[in-house]
Amino acid sequence: MTANKAEGLVLKRYSGFYYVQDEQYQIYECKLRGKIKDPVFTGDRVRFTPLEAGKGILESIIPRKNELYRPRIANVNLLLIIMACKQPAPSLILLDKLLLLASFYKITPQILLNKSDLPPDSTSVFIEDYYPQMGLPPIKTSAIKKTGIDTLRIVIENKIAVFAGPSGAGKSSLLNALVDGISVKTQELSKKVDRGKHTTRHVELYPLESGGWIADTPGFSQVEVPAIKSSELAAYFNDLSSIAEECKFNDCLHHGEKECAVKDAVNEGLIAQSRYNNYISILEEILAKERSYK
Ligand code: GDP
Ligand code: ZN
Repeated sequence: MTANKAEGLVLKRYSGFYYVQDEQYQIYECKLRGKIKDPVFTGDRVRFTPLEAGKGILESIIPRKNELYRPRIANVNLLLIIMACKQPAPSLILLDKLLLLASFYKITPQILLNKSDLPPDSTSVFIEDYYPQMGLPPIKTSAIKKTGIDTLRIVIENKIAVFAGPSGAGKSSLLNALVDGISVKTQELSKKVDRGKHTTRHVELYPLESGGWIADTPGFSQVEVPAIKSSELAAYFNDLSSIAEECKFNDCLHHGEKECAVKDAVNEGLIAQSRYNNYISILEEILAKERSYK
């Protein structure tokens, strides 16, 4: 690295410019050095040459730790999975799929139970009881009452975070509660304003004063099952994998096999039925894909 180059983080792209934040939290409006052919993503760590008046030249991309495609964002290391305590009731299959994706992309997951000002749905109570055993204690938040927000800020410190979760769970509302001075449209408003409009938006990372960054768009807009082999799926389910060693067969998929410790644990109530069902439904999807490649 030459002396006059600096390192920074791409916060957004806007009409041909890249907005790069350096380690002193200064933001530079950068143009791309002509030789860069690869697309630069929001979230990319880059080297750049600072020029006068807050301008700069983006010189090169530092290798990414990971990249998401929808939205296009690099180096995400915190996935905030939001479920509402009710309205809408939490979706356990979506939760388990998002946890799988987080683990596949090596992104730390954090479950948020938003709308904690409302009396919780039984599924929400289940999430609060069961998921901590897997090292995933949820944070209860209320975007309306502004509770849990400080705890959430501590989790985001030093991280690049994106939200995920069902529509209506409160992603926009929490983003508004976290980022001073922005006003992201919440559901009812955006339905009224954006209906039928094609708005091509780029992802933007907002630096939080308390540290860390949060993307203004939910991550994983498509919850496709990632490229995992059927034989490796159970390893992504912490509660199953801790028991799977006791199965009679080494290659047990915990599906049709007899003498399966995982199925016994489900029957004994040690593993939640919903976790097992969700594992099976994802497994069947993977098996179908594997059969179609043969
Ligand atoms: P998104 O689709 O996930 O972005 O959800 P929104 O932020 O648009 O919120 C959906 C609806 O839930 C809106 O009517 C919000 O006002 C409401 N909402 C969001 N957070 C809370 C909360 O903490 N408590 C309650 N009671 N309602 C909330
Ligand atoms: Zn088994």
